[in-house]
Amino acid sequence: MQCPNCQSKDIGKIGSTQFYCWNCFIEITMMNEILNVHQIEADGSLSSLDDLFTEEERKIN
Ligand SMILES: [Zn+2]
Repeated sequence: MQCPNCQSKDIGKIGSTQFYCWNCFIEITMMNEILNVHQIEADGSLSSLDDLFTEEERKIN
């Protein structure tokens, strides 16, 4: 698995379907073989980055 944002493989697992990219600091959630990407804001809330990627780019190969 690699980060859909920066292509890094430096991915940490933080939950059964949740991962964290240590390179670009985004949270990745795996849902039905599609990755949902979130940025963690300074106040701790999550904002979706899914709009930045096509479904094809977010699909797990
Ligand atoms: Zn990344």
